[in-house]
Order: sequence, then structure tokens, then C-alpha cells
Amino acid sequence: MKLAARIARIKPSETLAITAKTNALRAQGRDVIGFGAGEPDCDTPVNIKNAAIKAIEGGFTKYTPVSGTDELKDAIVAKLKQDNSLDYKRSQIVVSCGAKHTLYNLAQALFEEGDEVIIPSPYWVSYPDIVVLAGASPVYVTTEEKDGFKMKPQQLSSAISERTRAVIINSPSNPTGAAYSPEELKSLAKVLLDKDILVITDDIYEKIFYAGFSFANIASAEERIKDKTIVVNGVSKTYAMTGWRIGYAACSEEIASAMNKIQSQSTSNPTSIAQKAALEAISGDQSAVPQMVNEFSKRRDFIVGALNDIDGIKCFSPEGAFYVFPNVSGVYGRAFQGKKIMNSAELIDFLLDEANVAAVPGAAFGSDDHIRLSYATSMKNIEEGIKRIKKAVSKLG
Ligand SMILES: *Cc1c(COP(=O)(O)O)cnc(C)c1O
Repeated sequence: MKLAARIARIKPSETLAITAKTNALRAQGRDVIGFGAGEPDCDTPVNIKNAAIKAIEGGFTKYTPVSGTDELKDAIVAKLKQDNSLDYKRSQIVVSCGAKHTLYNLAQALFEEGDEVIIPSPYWVSYPDIVVLAGASPVYVTTEEKDGFKMKPQQLSSAISERTRAVIINSPSNPTGAAYSPEELKSLAKVLLDKDILVITDDIYEKIFYAGFSFANIASAEERIKDKTIVVNGVSKTYAMTGWRIGYAACSEEIASAMNKIQSQSTSNPTSIAQKAALEAISGDQSAVPQMVNEFSKRRDFIVGALNDIDGIKCFSPEGAFYVFPNVSGVYGRAFQGKKIMNSAELIDFLLDEANVAAVPGAAFGSDDHIRLSYATSMKNIEEGIKRIKKAVSKLG
């Protein structure tokens, strides 16, 4: 059978594939510790679940306006004002089925053949494929570990061409956990001020950051860039709501109505019930968020220390999100039973076979010297998992 050529141009999400593989091995009875998950391990807070139950019982189960309900859009407008000091109107908000869907709609609305989109690397697995599906080309800017995995203004400037349409910024970052300060964002904005280039800021980890850091996005750091910025956010990570599928964009009315048009011919509205839940998440009691972040913070401290204790592994301490991205190139070239480990995929296979530990190869995020471990799993699992990794790595010679 002939499939569309675009299918050959993209790859399935590697993080979702690892989760599926972990689950399959567990179903066979293998005791696998999973560091693959890209979602909080806690349950959705009860006030949020109750809002959805109430919506079902109250018959709020029909189509809503394509770009989301007015009440949810108004809550998002209020949130952007309160948390980010950004002013938007209801007509500038589009609610979609998760931030990934928001990014997909955005790419479909903005990019086409011949366009370039700048993506700092390491990057979230889906950015390149979302750009490619729109017919455009990703242009990678390789950030350095010594720069805290952050793009320098000079690097951004050098990556710009006649064809550049947009740059994607994700802070705190998945996979590195690196986060930009307002000053750093200001200096990146400066490069873009007099250019016809959009900035997509993926703020999905906005609330998940640690001691001493405080969140800003590029539009709040430099108001002159706001009209060129599309703010992308959602409830998945902050409120442990990955399965509910609600994300949103805040942008110019022109882009919002283009996204709305695409959504009207593809998914129609995001789920009515999930929108009620998202409304409660965004405007209701926020106390579950600091509790979750506090727990992540303890795990981060532990896992960074424990990984740095393993010979051949060097781990950068993340400012936010719930991932560590240790540099494992120190073990490359070592062998197990005569077979040398030469890259992140081979190390991940070795760890799964020998240590019953699942993680994601850094290559999926654009860096083969690293692997990604999510610490959105219990402290007990983290302790046991790191112990297993240490033991397995010590067998390499
Ligand atoms: C999880 C994630 C998303 C997508 O979240 P949704 O569940 O689709 O709202 C987007 N960007 C990054 C960087 C993520 O890690």
C-alpha cells in the first residue's frame, strides 16, 4: 500500500515508545523501574476531578465553541495577566487538545515548504516532527552544557536566514531542565526585535522550578517582543492532567483565527468535560502545585547527587521540570561481555537488559552524549533505580 510521503519524514515519539516498551516488559513479569515517563506521578487533584464529574452530571457533554469556552478563555486571560503580566483579549486565546496539539495547529497555521524554524538543541522530541509535518525545516542550535544548555544571542543570530519564520523556546526545558533568566531572554529578544521572526514560547513547565529560580517568558521579559510571541501552555504538567488533553495558545488575533480555522476542520473543540476540569485547575485552589514541586525538588537533589557519584556519568543540576539529562559519554567505549557501548541507544538497551531500568536515549532529543531520566517516580524507585544503574555501569570494562 502506498502511504503519504510525509509519514516517512517523521518518526514516532520516542518517549511514548519507551513507556509502551516498559509497560510491555512489566506485563511479562519483569520488574522494570521506569525513568521514561514524561508526566507527573501524582494523581489529578480532587477538586479538578470533581469539576469534571459535576460537568458530566450537569449534562455539559456537547460541542463547545471550537476554540474553547468563554469561561475557560477568560480564566486563561486572567492567569496570563496575574502570573505573566501579559495582557490578552479572549479573542487571542485558542484552547486545544493539549499543548502538543496547540503546537501542531500553530505549525500548520504558520509554516510551509521553504520555511525554517530555529530549535535549540537538546529539544523536546516532538518539535522537529511537528515542523516537518508542516513542510518546513528545523534548524538546530546546539547549546553547550557549559552554558547551562542555553542558547546564546550570538548563536541565535548566526542561525537566522532569509527563510527563518520562528524560533521555539522551552524554559524550563524538557529534556535538560535548563531555564532562562529574564536577562537572558531579554538579550535573545534583542536579536529578534527588528526582524520578521516569531517566537514560540513553550511554557508547559512554568510552575515546576526550584530554589532560587523565578519564571519568565520572553514576552514578559521584553514587552517589545510580545506581538511577535505566541505563548503556549497547558494544564498537563502543572496539575498532573496529561490524560485530560487541554493546552492553549495566546497570540495575535490573526494567528488565533488561523488556528481556529484548522481546529474547526480537524478536531473541533477540545473535550467539554476536560475544559471544565481545566477551568478549575487554572482558577481554583492551587495548593497541590507547591506540594508537588516540593516533592520533585527533593528527588532532584537526590538523583543529581547519586548520578554524579557514578564513574563515567556527569549530571547537570536542572532549574526546573522533572528530568535530569546526565552526560554519559564517559562510559562510551567500555564493554559488556565483549560488546562495546558506543552511543545513547546502546546504553539504554544495556540498562534495560542488565539493570531492568528504562530511560530515554539522548539522541531522541538531539544529543547522543546524554540520556534522559524522569524523576516523576517515587523516591523509593529512584533510589533502587540508581543503585541498579550504578551496579550495571560498574560491570563495564
Ligand atoms: C509534555 C510537553 C508538552 C505537551 O503537553 P500536552 O500534554 O500536550 O499539553 C509540550 N511541550 C513540552 C516541552 C512537554 O514536555
